[in-house]
Amino acid sequence: MSNDLFQKLGVSQKFQAALDAANFVTPSQIQDQAIPALIEGRDVLGIAQTGTGKTAAFGLPLLQRLDARNKPAQSNHPVGLVLAPTRELAIQIHTELTAFAAATPLRLGCIYGGVGQNPQVKMLRSGLDVLIATPGRLLDLISQQHVKLGHVEILVLDEADRLLDMGFIRDVKKIVAATPRKRQSLLFSATMPDAVSELAAEMLHKPVRVEVAPKQVTVEKIDQRVTMVATPDKLAAIEHILRRDDVKKAIAFTRTKHGADKVARKLRNAGINAEAIHGNKSQNARSRALDGFKNGDTWVLVATDIAARGIDIDGVTHVVNFELPHEPESYVHRIGRTGRAGAAGSAWSLVDPSEVKRLRAVERLIRMPITQEDLDIEVTVPVERIVQQQQKSHQEQGQKRRRPRRRRASRAAA
Ligand code: AMP
Repeated sequence: MSNDLFQKLGVSQKFQAALDAANFVTPSQIQDQAIPALIEGRDVLGIAQTGTGKTAAFGLPLLQRLDARNKPAQSNHPVGLVLAPTRELAIQIHTELTAFAAATPLRLGCIYGGVGQNPQVKMLRSGLDVLIATPGRLLDLISQQHVKLGHVEILVLDEADRLLDMGFIRDVKKIVAATPRKRQSLLFSATMPDAVSELAAEMLHKPVRVEVAPKQVTVEKIDQRVTMVATPDKLAAIEHILRRDDVKKAIAFTRTKHGADKVARKLRNAGINAEAIHGNKSQNARSRALDGFKNGDTWVLVATDIAARGIDIDGVTHVVNFELPHEPESYVHRIGRTGRAGAAGSAWSLVDPSEVKRLRAVERLIRMPITQEDLDIEVTVPVERIVQQQQKSHQEQGQKRRRPRRRRASRAAA
């Protein structure tokens, strides 16, 4: 099979067999945009989610440039370094890049925490051209002199927003500082919160920015409901929803990690088998929670937006938004976890009156109103009362704002 399209981007003939074997015929959008710039040696800021083909987008140019050096790496001195937030992602990248590197003499290795370090130390000693690592274990091995970053020529930060969410920012900065200033740098992230933009500005030199819009989910097929309920009554509301007969597997979303823990704990106390999954959990705890959810031991997963990214589990019948997300786009990502592969799915959002603006933003984005449904639960705070309080405080604020203007007007008149 010919692979003209990848070759047109500058990918060497050497990688063709691997591309054919992986059935990569047409480059994805991010590959189209990033590969030529990276082969040229430019820094790249890639805004793209998992599933867009970003691994090959940075991996093929990385391997091609390192192969062109024609010089094997020295013991303990990797030349290409890829940082990933989780063990799963690191392994996934390692597997994909190893397949692409088959026709080259390059040696690749992967290190992560939670397992013994001796095999990793031995592997590093043998000399790796490309090291794929999670930050914690890498720093550990650097401090023991098993890894030295002075020969790094290409540095990749993958899923930078998740690295930050998981609290790796300090570690990442230390690692970046340990590499030579003269290097090619790549940063990939699905979202660009301020902390990621700052990191990008620090570590990238005149980057080419490539951005791929996430795949649009067809939300029309998902049955969407909204229940107006005051925050203190949301636990009763979510419990009521989860106890419906048609709920087989559900993912509940909270905005904060703390919130995810709290909701999971309260649900467990109420006899609902729920587990929280977020960036502060250890790798093992997250794997356990996910496995339990996949095999049906746990039927409710309580997740934050970033932790839920990449979770692809069949049979999720319900998504419950314990709070609406700040970004309306996240609502679409969240509810896309249900109704996969043509299956029916339901998404339920619990909305406190303070979240109504966010609800309207979501409705504008999906271009349809969401059906409102009251639940048969006892509430401690009637929603109407909060709305009244809000209106009152708006009026008071309005009066405060108007007063100075009157003063200025009277001074002008005088
Ligand atoms: P990634 O975003 O790198 O995790 O890739 C998502 C999935 O798409 C992986 O299973 C890749 O193997 C696959 N993939 C990436 N690029 C292509 C391509 N150009 N053609 C076909 N499949 C691809």
